[in-house]
Amino acid sequence: MSSIPRRYHITTFGCQMNKADSERMAGILENMGFQFSEDPNQADLILYNTCSIRDNAEHKVYSYLGRQAKRKLQQPNLTLIVAGCVAQQEGEALLRRVPELDMVMGPQHANRLEDLLEQVFAGNQVVATEAVHIMEDITKPRRESQVTAWVNVIYGCNERCTYCIVPSVRGIEQSRTPEAIRAEMEELGRQGYKEVTLLGQNIDAYGRDLPGTTPEGRNLHTLTDLLYFVHDVPGIERIRFATSHPRYFTERLIRACQELPKVCEHFHIPFQSGDNEVLKAMARGYTHEKYRRIIDMIRHYMPDASISADAIVGFPGETEEQFENTLKLLEEISFDMLNTAAYSPRPGTPAAVWENQLSEEVKSDRLQRLNHLVSIKAAERSQRYLGRIEEVLVEEQNAKDPTQVMGRTRGNRLTFFTGDINQLKGQLVQVKITESRAFSLSGEAISVPQPALV
Ligand code: SF4
Repeated sequence: MSSIPRRYHITTFGCQMNKADSERMAGILENMGFQFSEDPNQADLILYNTCSIRDNAEHKVYSYLGRQAKRKLQQPNLTLIVAGCVAQQEGEALLRRVPELDMVMGPQHANRLEDLLEQVFAGNQVVATEAVHIMEDITKPRRESQVTAWVNVIYGCNERCTYCIVPSVRGIEQSRTPEAIRAEMEELGRQGYKEVTLLGQNIDAYGRDLPGTTPEGRNLHTLTDLLYFVHDVPGIERIRFATSHPRYFTERLIRACQELPKVCEHFHIPFQSGDNEVLKAMARGYTHEKYRRIIDMIRHYMPDASISADAIVGFPGETEEQFENTLKLLEEISFDMLNTAAYSPRPGTPAAVWENQLSEEVKSDRLQRLNHLVSIKAAERSQRYLGRIEEVLVEEQNAKDPTQVMGRTRGNRLTFFTGDINQLKGQLVQVKITESRAFSLSGEAISVPQPALV
């Protein structure tokens, strides 16, 4: 490789898992001597880390690729890579569609980027989509934030929700060992990180694939055990986790969250539909009654806990009445945040080939009605913060108002207040809430931690 450092640019689409993968791949590239280029058109290596959760997400990458493929005609040394879920879904077909590509690599291969790139620099066009055991990554991820960090605890998913492409593109469940997760968190604590989010597509499955059972026959390793195991990592003040699955959510986990002070009172538990027939067709493995019991249990132990979820409208065969059951569940549970989407048929998923697909008009009408109710309920939920003192972890300056900083409450509510980012970044600040909106708050700092006397 020439003495002039090569520059790279990574564009990430999709979920937190993809963001965490991109941070690790950036770390690997910098470990190889590449330098980050803010401008993709100044980069010698372009990597798109893609998402195929919905049709529009998948097609976003092709417009980007088209431009860079043209550029490659002028600049043959440009290295073009497609990673992530579209890469896994399409594989070789992507090379036929975009012959200028140098590599197509699935999510399971993120940690192997250096080996794969050696093959590319040796003149090969590489397709890495075979199922592999995900090896621990030893390089330091190039993290976007200096305050909060994603930590993968389990890769892949063994569920078979009939609308979801994740199991076929991210593979079977692979849990990291508690020791590897703790070691990564200890390193983060040493680097000054204050908050960690433990990540898994179905985080409640953590440990199912790890050896060992307790005398009562329970998995030795579960998410609950992991929370106890990493709770005392020095320097880490807050622990979050996502994404939960109602089918496996336990009272034992809720009790642990109540007991462990660093675990934030925020749960992200997708329900997808409020109708049992639709849940059955989705193969979600629970009923709306079970889902409500989980929320009641959480609110029994932590009455003020923040609850967010995901919901899909327009699933094949969903009747108006069944859709209204989703509205009813939202009305009765009142979520702090609800991510909503219209059903999008995904290649290779069972529901994609079912006859009873709904029209785009019906789907977008239902999505609009759901989103309308989501904002009303979220605004209602937000009002409970008015006049309260909330602990906010300061992450960034408010991009819209440089006199303000922004961060999140323990309930994961975005909060803005006047302050100097140089003084407050990474600090836990007590903020009196003076204004509430559907998805964010504003307030005044009432106590700012004094910098430690050196
Ligand atoms: S639990 Fe279901 S929706 Fe979630 S990633 Fe797995 S298959 Fe997809």
